[in-house]
Amino acid sequence: MFRRGHLGVAMLALAPVTFWLLSAGYPVFAALVAGTVLYLAMLPDVDHRIPGVPHRGPTHSLLFAGVVGGVFAGAASLVEPVLSVAVPGGVSMVAFGFLLGFGAVVAHLLGDAITPAGVNFLWPYPKEWSLYLTTADSTLWNWGLFGLGVFAMAGSVALALRGLPI
Ligand SMILES: [Zn+2]
Repeated sequence: MFRRGHLGVAMLALAPVTFWLLSAGYPVFAALVAGTVLYLAMLPDVDHRIPGVPHRGPTHSLLFAGVVGGVFAGAASLVEPVLSVAVPGGVSMVAFGFLLGFGAVVAHLLGDAITPAGVNFLWPYPKEWSLYLTTADSTLWNWGLFGLGVFAMAGSVALALRGLPI
């Protein structure tokens, strides 16, 4: 999957979270979460730039998602005592940080899992999972997912701002 498709999947995943945060009255937090997830949308593809690391290997796994989540949880635990940001729903900042990092990587993995090359979710256990829906370079799928993502995000923002119940 290309960048545009990954951004689309990330926005589809973000839409309900954005709706929740906006309706709960946390617009700055919602923007921060959306910005972070979109920024991390291509993180697993750093494997293109690390010599010796195969593409769609270790960085395309739940283990990597857990590591990234752990880094975010660690950062949140350092920041929490200094800068206390109210997290809605009684979720601790550390737990929210973990979900943020973990979720951003998993969204990327799902985007890659629809292509025939598949994703080795349980790396180092060698098995690729694929839904065989499209090739990674499909213009239709990359633009289609991007369009759906934009639509879902715009919809959730519009609904949250109007205060409509779903
Ligand atoms: Zn990838």
